[in-house]
Amino acid sequence: MSFSPADDPADGRTSEPTVRYRLGDAGPAVAEIRGKLARLDLLESEVETSVPDLDAHFDQACDRAIREFQQQRGLTVDGVVGPETYGALEEARWRLGDRILSHSATHPMVGDDVAALQRRLVELGFDTGRIDGVFGEPTARAVRDFQHNVGLRADGTCGPGTFKSLDRLARTVVGGRARDLRESEQIHAAGPTLPGKIVVIDPGHGGDDPGKVAHDLTEAAVVSDLAARVEGRLAATGVTVYLTRGVDGGRVTETERAAFANSTNADVVISLHVDGSEDRQPHGVATYYFGALVNGHSAAGERFAGLVQREIVARTDLRDCRTHAKTWDLLRYTRMPAVRVELGYVTNPDDAARLGDPDFRDVVAEAIVVAVQRLYLPSELDPPTGALRLSQLTP
Ligand SMILES: [Zn+2]
Repeated sequence: MSFSPADDPADGRTSEPTVRYRLGDAGPAVAEIRGKLARLDLLESEVETSVPDLDAHFDQACDRAIREFQQQRGLTVDGVVGPETYGALEEARWRLGDRILSHSATHPMVGDDVAALQRRLVELGFDTGRIDGVFGEPTARAVRDFQHNVGLRADGTCGPGTFKSLDRLARTVVGGRARDLRESEQIHAAGPTLPGKIVVIDPGHGGDDPGKVAHDLTEAAVVSDLAARVEGRLAATGVTVYLTRGVDGGRVTETERAAFANSTNADVVISLHVDGSEDRQPHGVATYYFGALVNGHSAAGERFAGLVQREIVARTDLRDCRTHAKTWDLLRYTRMPAVRVELGYVTNPDDAARLGDPDFRDVVAEAIVVAVQRLYLPSELDPPTGALRLSQLTP
C-alpha cells in the first residue's frame, strides 16, 4: 500500500519560499533574524531603534548563534537559515500565555508555548502524548481533561482562565518521567511477538526528488529497493507493513508521511535514507530519533534507534556514526517511536560499493527486522546484538 499526497498539504509551511540566509548576507531579513536571536539571548542585544537596520550583517557572531540555535533545537547544524530553521526561530518566540492555544486538525499550532503547556500538563499527571511543541489531538484531550478536573468548561482551548489554573496548580515536583514510562508501558502492552504489529517503512525522497546522487547510485532508488527487502522480511514474520510512497509516485512531504503513519496506527516508523557530502571522505551509518535539548524527547525512539544502529554496525563493516536526536518533521509529527537511518554515504567510494551490492542490502534489511523484534522483547529474552537470525523470527 502506498500513500498519495492530499491536494491540500496538512502543513502550511511547505508553501514557504525557499529563501536562504547565511554568512555574508545583509539586509532587513538579516536584521529580523538577528533580532530573534537576541531575544533568545543567543546574540548580544542590539540598540533598539524603531527604524529597521537595512544593512544588518550576517556576520561570524550571527553564524555562531544560528549554529548554537540549530544544535539546541535538533536541526541540521549548517549555519544556514532556510525554511526549517526560520520556522524554528518563529516557534521559539512564543511564551506560555502569549496567545490563546487550541487544536486545529489541518494547521496545528506549534511553538515553545505549546511545549511549555505540555510539560505543565504532564507534571500534573495528564497525558499530552509526546512533548513536542505541537498542539495535536492528544494535547487537546489532556487540556479538556485538565479543565474538567479543575471545574472549567472543558472546551480544549487554553485561554486566560486555563492559564491561571495552570499557574495555580503548577507543582514543584518534576514528573517529566511520566511520559517516558507511558511509552515504555505501551511497548510492553503490545506484547513480545511480531505477528499483528504494524510497521510503516518510509523510503526517503521519490517523485522528482532523487535525494543524494553519486557513483551511479540514486538515493531514492536505493532506499526503495531496501524498503522492499525490509517489507518482505517483516511480512514473512506476520507484520502488516505500509510504505509511505510507491516506487514511482509523486513527491511526498515529510509532514504528509508522518500524517500517513499516524493514520495507520503503526507501532513503529522506519525512515530510510542514504547520506551524501561535498567531498568523498565522510562515510558510515547514523540513526536519528526525535529529540532536542529543548522541547522534548522520545525515550522509546532513542532506544529503537540504538537497536537499529547497533544491529547494522554489528552485521556490516560500515563506520559507526552513532545515534542522534533531531526534530526533523517526520520524527516530530509521528505519534509512535520513529527512527531515520542514514545508511552510508553515496559520495564515499567504499560506502557506495557496499550500497550497490544486493547482498549488503539484504544484510541491512535483516538487521532492521531484528531491531524491530528486539524492541518488543522483555530484557530477559533480549539476545546480544548481532545474534538473532531471521529464521528464528519466522512463525
Ligand atoms: Zn535523504
